[in-house]
Amino acid sequence: MNKSKQNSYQDVNFCLRCGHKLEIKTDREGKYRPQCPACHWIYYKNPVPAVAIVLLNDLHELLLIKRRFEPKAGEWALPSGYMEVYLSPEENALEELIEETGLQGRIKYCIGWHYGSSPLYEKILNIGFRIEATGGTLMAGDDALEARFFPLEQLPPIAFASHREFIRKETDL
Ligand SMILES: [Zn+2]
Repeated sequence: MNKSKQNSYQDVNFCLRCGHKLEIKTDREGKYRPQCPACHWIYYKNPVPAVAIVLLNDLHELLLIKRRFEPKAGEWALPSGYMEVYLSPEENALEELIEETGLQGRIKYCIGWHYGSSPLYEKILNIGFRIEATGGTLMAGDDALEARFFPLEQLPPIAFASHREFIRKETDL
């Protein structure tokens, strides 16, 4: 097995379904995966999908939140979050917006994606959405300490490379 694949699975030991010890074996395509000898469940390790929101107001100011929790607690970032399995990417983005900033919004378009490393989940696939506000009242909620609009020439340092890239794409900064 090549080293990188082995390392990807070294922290995965027990079947999530039945609790039996997993064995790393090749699947039908010849790829190594942890498999459960008792219930035949296969563990696929995939990048974790997340969404991030670029929202500008009528003054062309950018909406940012100050993060309450690690990673990067106390730093500024776009409203964002890991995807829930019961929400589409678009629904997920709109829900994160409400939860973190109190604003309701409408998807304008998908900015693109950013694929990057994460200390916790190895790889994150971040999907950026351009959203316009349609209502609500701006207030920090959920995992945000603060939520406010910043003039583009006065942005604070942004916590994540993926967010910096989405901001750059949408504002020519
Ligand atoms: Zn099992």
